[in-house]
Amino acid sequence: MSQISVRKTTPAPALVAIPRFGVSPPHEDMLAQDMEDLGQWGLDIFRIGEHSGDRPLTVLMYSIFQERGLLQSFRIPADTFLSFMLTLEDHYHHDVAYHNSLHAADVVHSTHVLLSTPALEEVFTSLEIMAVLFASAIHDVDHPGLTNQFMVNTSSELALMYNDSSVLENHHLAVGFKLLQEHNCDIFQNLGSKQRHSLRKMVIDMVLATDMSKHMNSLADMKTMVETKKVTSQGVLLLDNYSDRIQVLQNMVHCADLSNPTKPLPLYRRWTDRIMEEFFTQGDRERDEGLEISPMCDKHNASVEKSQVGFIDYVVHPLWEAWADLVHPDAQELLDALEDNREYYHSMMPGSPPQGRAPPGAPPGAPPGAPGPDAPPAAPPAGDKFQFELTLEEEEEEKEEEEEEEEEKEGGKEEEGQEEDT
Ligand code: AMP
Ligand code: MG
Ligand code: ZN
Repeated sequence: MSQISVRKTTPAPALVAIPRFGVSPPHEDMLAQDMEDLGQWGLDIFRIGEHSGDRPLTVLMYSIFQERGLLQSFRIPADTFLSFMLTLEDHYHHDVAYHNSLHAADVVHSTHVLLSTPALEEVFTSLEIMAVLFASAIHDVDHPGLTNQFMVNTSSELALMYNDSSVLENHHLAVGFKLLQEHNCDIFQNLGSKQRHSLRKMVIDMVLATDMSKHMNSLADMKTMVETKKVTSQGVLLLDNYSDRIQVLQNMVHCADLSNPTKPLPLYRRWTDRIMEEFFTQGDRERDEGLEISPMCDKHNASVEKSQVGFIDYVVHPLWEAWADLVHPDAQELLDALEDNREYYHSMMPGSPPQGRAPPGAPPGAPPGAPGPDAPPAAPPAGDKFQFELTLEEEEEEKEEEEEEEEEKEGGKEEEGQEEDT
């Protein structure tokens, strides 16, 4: 319990000359072609996974750090950077269907594109940019492919360690920072102590904000920020205090984490297949162990399409709509893609009327037609369940108070009962 266990270290590559993408992949020419889309939302991360010899996180971080001049700005030796990245990538689980290093690479890349949005031009310092990319890279490291709720319900070591709160997110952070201590892995070795502290604080704030139980509160805060937003004469956001700056960075990583449904449909569908496979694996385990099967995890009783429509309507669309308001008009195309993808999954729902034309991006043979977009209601109807609870902190506190009152009442009754018995 007193140690954060790290499994293995990838030895520093004994490189005379560092290859173009940091590793020597079997298909470097094809990788080079894929990487031409580095600045595009539609980058094909799955191909990068294949063409990099299964090192998508390392090659993307290396390319992005180089493009942004971060290795030079912070005097990070390239071999140290690669040792750290390879070690980090090794601590993502290859046998977990969704939360593996491809997802981390996808979040890093999405964050990289969001950082370049015109409304945020020259808003963030190099340290903040490095912090948000590092946070994205470590944000799910050593993910077991099981949810926070599962960890808590099964009294896992990690739930015990972190007292049931943001169990996985605390663990990802601890492992991410611990790996910096491995041999030749301290990529922040040349930062001053003030910079190190500041970076560490930001990264902790960002990764903890990826816990889905914080979603409703982050969204409410972002909406408040949109209402009171200030822009400079150049039309970029004015963020003049830590609280506002970190809030935008937290939401940026959170949006990148929930960006699958905003991507070109063929990519989005592949992510959906992966997350459902991971959920079903958890469901099988729950069934085998006689536990209640978590929402969306029962392979015998699942509607993948309905889940995606619900996830978009109640979680993803409200989030991205707020982001799009914040950086208006930069994210309009992305919001349009999200709405088209929502229509695709809606049209695929069992019982959906086959009318009209096939939605854009639909694969050949997909049933045509979908109704016009209908505005998502503010809260999911009772019965629509996600992998996480959608609550506001105030509601949470009220619920806790009510539960305490209940317990007190029951305790009182028991005492009365005991008195009667004697
Ligand atoms: P993370 O676990 O850090 O990736 O947090 C994002 C969470 O959002 C996931 O664990 C899922 O619960 C949820 N999520 C993300 N993408 C999808 C998706 N395509 N379908 C359903 N749930 C998703
Ligand atoms: Mg996570
Ligand atoms: Zn994630």
